[in-house]
Amino acid sequence: MSARQRRARSAPAERVPGELEHLDPLETDELEADSESSSFPLRSFSLLVWSARHDNDWVTIVCEQPDGTFAVIAAPVTARNVTPDDIATTAGIGKVTAEQTLREKSGHAHCSPACEAWQERRELVMVAR
Ligand SMILES: [Zn+2]
Repeated sequence: MSARQRRARSAPAERVPGELEHLDPLETDELEADSESSSFPLRSFSLLVWSARHDNDWVTIVCEQPDGTFAVIAAPVTARNVTPDDIATTAGIGKVTAEQTLREKSGHAHCSPACEAWQERRELVMVAR
């Protein structure tokens, strides 16, 4: 009855070993002036970071990114290898999102007088490319 002529006939083409070897890690032509003496192409960014420590030993963080977005993090202060919980388009949205995330992840329903207000600082970040 049903004559399906379409068959999943996927014969993967063989990869030739060595074909990916044109990668040139020292292609630094686009580099700008002040790094002539360095063999590591880096760009530096002055980025804003907001953080607040809470009475349950969690911290909320909003980090400006080189692309103009804001990474949102809520994590225990002892956490290692923290990854962003969200990406926000403005710092204000980021702070609200961080507080919501804190509530959801840690059960921190309300801030108390023992919770810090948001602290703002500026950090110089070097990004390899
Ligand atoms: Zn709090």
